[in-house]
Order: sequence, then C-alpha cells, then structure tokens
Amino acid sequence: MPTFVDPSKCDGCKGGEKTACMYICPNDLMVLDDKEMRAYNQEPDACWECYSCVKICPQGAITARPYADFAPMGGTCIPMRSADSVMWTVKFRNGSVKRFKFPIRTTPEGSIKPFDDPKGDATLEDSKLYTETALVEPQTVLGKKFEVSEADKTLTC
Ligand code: SF4
Ligand code: SF4
Repeated sequence: MPTFVDPSKCDGCKGGEKTACMYICPNDLMVLDDKEMRAYNQEPDACWECYSCVKICPQGAITARPYADFAPMGGTCIPMRSADSVMWTVKFRNGSVKRFKFPIRTTPEGSIKPFDDPKGDATLEDSKLYTETALVEPQTVLGKKFEVSEADKTLTC
C-alpha cells in the first residue's frame, strides 16, 4: 500500500521551499498543500513503497503498510533513522513487537568529500573521470594481436 501522511503530525517541514519528502521521493510523488501546510502523496498508484520519505520525515508523519512477507496485514513498520543506522520497529496485529537495527553506512556521516581533491583538469565535456589525470585507453589492449606462445602450441596427451 502506498504512503499516507498523518496530517496531525506533518508540519510542512516548517514552510521550507522544498519539504524533505518532496526532496527524497525518487518518483516526485510528494507535494505540499501550501494552504494547509501539509504534504500528501499526489499519485498513490505510482508509489513503489521504497520507504525513502518514511525514513526522512523529521516528524515521523508518513506511514507505509509494510510488505506482507515480514509483517502480515494489520501490522505496522516504523523506521527511525540515525546517522549510521536505521532502527526498524515492526508491530504485528497480535500486539507483539520486534525491533532490529540495520547499519546504513561504513564511514562517518559527512566524511566523504569527493570534490575536495580534484586531480587533473577533467570537465563534463571530456571523457576523463573527475579523479583521472589521463584517460586510460582500452583500445591498446583490445587491439593487441592475440599470440600463442611456442610452448602452448605443443599438444600433450
Ligand atoms: S517530510 Fe514529513 S513533516 Fe515534512 S512535509 Fe513531508 S510529511 Fe510533512
Ligand atoms: S515510498 Fe518512495 S515512491 Fe512512495 S512516496 Fe515515499 S519516497 Fe515516493
């Protein structure tokens, strides 16, 4: 089932230009009703229940029904994201609760700075990667004549 927003919890990300759920949805489904200052899923049929908006919402206002293979009908599944992990709380319809913590990164948050140490003068127009100083030319390898050494030409039985 697609996501739904609890309007009593959503604060419209305090009136920011783009709300967290709008920013993260890979399908551009979340929109903000700027009169009510509440977000909603504008096209539930197109939601693939990726949970990105559920995880990022700072108010915990978005819910998606969990997949039936781990929480049958009537259950809930709430992710709580921290800098290095997500704590999942699964509540089953009989009231039992299970929690598990899943690591989401191996490096400290903010420690990856891909643009701090550029090498060479690569631009978007050339074929080099941003960190390459010279283009590796696979043609020299691919174009090399295939040669069989004398030793390999001798059949042994
Ligand atoms: S991220 Fe949460 S609080 Fe922010 S607009 Fe979306 S539903 Fe509302
Ligand atoms: S669950 Fe994924 S696809 Fe559905 S609204 Fe949230 S971010 Fe978009």
